[in-house]
Amino acid sequence: MPELKWRMASSFPKSLDTIYGAGEDFAKRVAGLTDNKFQIRVFAAGEIVPGLQVVDAVQNETVECGHTASYYYVGKDPTFAFDTAVPFGLNTRQHNSWVYNGGGLELMREFYKDYNMTSFLMSHTGGQMGGWWRKEIKTPDDMKGVKMRIGGFAGQVLQKLGVVPQQLAGGDIYPALEKGTIDAAEWVGPYDDQKLGFNKVAQYYYYPGWWEAAPRCRSMSD
Ligand code: CA
Repeated sequence: MPELKWRMASSFPKSLDTIYGAGEDFAKRVAGLTDNKFQIRVFAAGEIVPGLQVVDAVQNETVECGHTASYYYVGKDPTFAFDTAVPFGLNTRQHNSWVYNGGGLELMREFYKDYNMTSFLMSHTGGQMGGWWRKEIKTPDDMKGVKMRIGGFAGQVLQKLGVVPQQLAGGDIYPALEKGTIDAAEWVGPYDDQKLGFNKVAQYYYYPGWWEAAPRCRSMSD
């Protein structure tokens, strides 16, 4: 067996032990199965490329593989959303069924060919929360003009209610929320959100995150 050394660009900061850690677990498993011949080194967001440029880095072969959430790239093509989550979309079990038994994996891989890559399922957050807000929301009108970090296609939905959506990588959310560059942010759920410190700078936490009933992360490789 030849020796292989690959670099994996992650979209996530090291502080997120479960999400970033999924990439490291994957690398350990691959090494274990190959007598350490196939080594994958994981790099946090920003170490090789910014967190939201992982697909680009895999596509242009800056790295051999990446760990990201496909819906970060809906600006390139809305199809990317289906592989992570779409608003009011499938829950965890339904999404698993679609991917493994409903032809989802094949459909997405066909789509990814245009980007010079293929995909493997990596990690899964389950249903998410609706995010942290610095002011109380009592009516839909209260959302007008609120600058919110939100992932994927959901931003375009909230835009209809006057929200100004912004896409930021996980590690960039806290400073933006703290400085007031954004007024609200959704990330994942209590465990990961607390690791990123949102509870220190925003007082209101709403649920459910109807835009992410079963978001998944993907390992992309070229
Ligand atoms: Ca989210």
